[in-house]
Amino acid sequence: MVVSRHAEIAGAGFAGLAAAIALRQRGWTVRVHEAAKELRAFGAGIFIWENGLRVLKAVGAYESVMANAHEAISYETRHDNRLIAEHRFTPDKGTRMLTMTRQHLYSCVIEAAERAGVTIVLGSEIVAASPNGALIAADGEHYKADLVVGADGVRSKVRDSVGLLKERNSYSDGIVRVLAPRMKHALRPDNWDHVIDFWNLGNRPLRILYVPCNMDDLYLAMMAPVSDKEASAIPINHDVWIAAFPQLEPVIRRVTVGGRYDAYETSKLIRWSSGRIAIVGDAAHGMAPTLGQGAGTAIMNALALAVAVEGRSDIEDALEEWETRERPLTEHTQNHSALIAKERKTSQGGFWDADALRAANHVPTGTEHLPSLVAA
Ligand SMILES: Cc1cc2nc3c(=O)[nH]c(=O)nc-3n(C[C@H](O)[C@H](O)[C@H](O)COP(=O)(O)OP(=O)(O)OC[C@H]3O[C@@H](n4cnc5c(N)ncnc54)[C@H](O)[C@@H]3O)c2cc1C
Repeated sequence: MVVSRHAEIAGAGFAGLAAAIALRQRGWTVRVHEAAKELRAFGAGIFIWENGLRVLKAVGAYESVMANAHEAISYETRHDNRLIAEHRFTPDKGTRMLTMTRQHLYSCVIEAAERAGVTIVLGSEIVAASPNGALIAADGEHYKADLVVGADGVRSKVRDSVGLLKERNSYSDGIVRVLAPRMKHALRPDNWDHVIDFWNLGNRPLRILYVPCNMDDLYLAMMAPVSDKEASAIPINHDVWIAAFPQLEPVIRRVTVGGRYDAYETSKLIRWSSGRIAIVGDAAHGMAPTLGQGAGTAIMNALALAVAVEGRSDIEDALEEWETRERPLTEHTQNHSALIAKERKTSQGGFWDADALRAANHVPTGTEHLPSLVAA
């Protein structure tokens, strides 16, 4: 007789939903607790690489994601609008660079979760977890499970309730994330289908990462030091940004919604698990966004978690094996992202080397059976 096992997950972000789907696919019943009252991503774009695409394929979201994503064949680095480096991401080089809006990616993952039969409880705030196998909600309710997952983001209460946080580091820069209409017609003719890393390295270092998401939406990741209160302000200070990047004036002027500023931050844990509790995603390994791999590694580790516990009665051992297998690549990606962030290496171009692309080129656990998606 097959005994169905049950998982309780805190957090319906990319990590929580990917774990939920992958567990459902392996016969588990799953309930996800989301503190927010609705499932909504904020207005920004996101990079997803080959590793993340393979996980999306495995959890049943790949086709819908690709239907409204942009594949940029080039990443340009410019100083004062002068090209200083270019990296080509053509499929024959093996790694594709896909960009899209967060809302699109999130909607596709939510739909995949619904198709898989995942139960999501909104407005359910989790405040702690027990290593014996329970999530504890703000109203005092205990939700017992064979496996408990803390996917509740960088400020994870699940993680902190069992004392797993080892260190948190912050850096001197951060990013304002906004969406704007693409408006190619209003800009001077240029490579507007490329991802372009515009730098202004004068006495006020600022950067705009120009990222097409689809035919209509443009993502601007606007980097400013934490100490630059004017440039890191929300809503954006149009005059400051237009003065630094006049070539983007028409789109900068169209940024009217608030946006969001996040300082770069890294967190590391003592261990990724405690008893029957697994910590996954930003809760386990928040990283600087310089390689665009936070969500990619989050969903890789979420799928790998479901693979690790499949058919296992000894959950604690399975979680240790999961961490031993997955943590080295995650930690490499975190460390490399942090190094690039600290030294502002993206400003020099030429940083898309094998170390920077190690996670992107990795075949995630649980996707080994899939053919190459590039050829598909
Ligand atoms: C500036 C910036 C740019 C980035 N760009 C990229 C990129 O291009 N590509 C990429 O792969 N990654 C990128 N990332 C990283 C990416 O956004 C994260 O790694 C990813 O969102 C992590 O997903 P998660 O599910 O672990 O956490 P989250 O997305 O934070 O989800 C956590 C969920 O848990 C919920 N929650 C929180 N607390 C509780 C609680 N107590 N009880 C119940 N629910 C709770 C939250 O509401 C949320 O829904 C970027 C990050 C930053 C800061």
